[in-house]
Amino acid sequence: MRRFGAVVVGAGPAGMSAALYLARFGINTALVEQLAPGGLLLQTSAVENYPGFPKGIQGYELADFMSEQLSPYTNLSRIQGGLSEFKIAEGRKLLHIDDEWLEADAVIICSGVRYRKLGLPNEDFLLGRGISHCALCDGNFFKGQIVGVAGGGNSAVGESLHLAKIVSRLHLIHRRDAFRAAPFEVDRIKQTTNIVFELNTIITALHGEKQLEGISLKRLDTGKEEFLPLDGLFVFVGFDPVSGFLPEEISRDSQGFIVTDTEMRTNIPGIFAAGDIRAKLCRQIVTAVGEGATAANAVNIYLEHAHG
Ligand code: NAP
Repeated sequence: MRRFGAVVVGAGPAGMSAALYLARFGINTALVEQLAPGGLLLQTSAVENYPGFPKGIQGYELADFMSEQLSPYTNLSRIQGGLSEFKIAEGRKLLHIDDEWLEADAVIICSGVRYRKLGLPNEDFLLGRGISHCALCDGNFFKGQIVGVAGGGNSAVGESLHLAKIVSRLHLIHRRDAFRAAPFEVDRIKQTTNIVFELNTIITALHGEKQLEGISLKRLDTGKEEFLPLDGLFVFVGFDPVSGFLPEEISRDSQGFIVTDTEMRTNIPGIFAAGDIRAKLCRQIVTAVGEGATAANAVNIYLEHAHG
């Protein structure tokens, strides 16, 4: 069993920022990453609200920069693997990653979120067969075709702007007539001529035996139902926390997001959380990065007290 001063779970912006600060504090740190570093950043097309990039930056480029910035630190071990079990036993924090156990004096949970599904029959089967949660990864499959986008938040609106440059027509389907997304972006979609607004509208069924062929829509103001033929459907109806592996004793809100104080401390001493997995209102790359740094600082103080 390898032992670390701190283990960071998840290498999105929060996790990479936490790892950077921990390494610079001189703490023997492990950063556990399941896939490539970047988290949801890898599925984000243009990032225009991260300070320092006046022309914006692609999500994968920002993720690469963050990852590269960690390379000089020899006290940082990057462990690729999935966390399957996390136990707290008599104050010891034990994490099972693939086929090995790690022990940590402190843990920062940065496991983030995953895209929420619509919850319709056939949705799992059609995922990858016309349905997608990633415009950047799958948008080019629909070049010159007709797609739908479900949702009314920053993801739906931002990714619609990216997709509209590729497809011939995009139907933006939102259950209300007001958007949750930033007004600046909403103004831009309103000026995009190949985006058709399907407002006060919900998707009631997904059609296609082998591949998505279309969807059923219900107009909430009139009750009218209709079939809309589509080549693709991008679903951006919010996020759910990635928290299945967490010990039960860590406090969460009613939706499963981890509750912390302003220093990113959970209710369990030595366990911290940062980024999208936290219960909070503002989910941005810049807040995730700030929380990663705050959590690392709190870990440093915790370890000084624990060992001092
Ligand atoms: P979100 O802000 O939670 O918005 C989800 C949208 O989907 C809402 O418009 C919601 O409708 C709708 N919705 C939820 N459940 C639905 C269902 N079952 N059927 C149909 N529609 C449904 O999610 P998000 O856009 O993925 O963003 C998540 C977080 O990341 C937010 O904090 C957001 O600000 C942040 N983010 C920021 C940026 C950026 O700054 N550029 C980009 C992406 C994400 P209602 O409006 O009626 O609730």
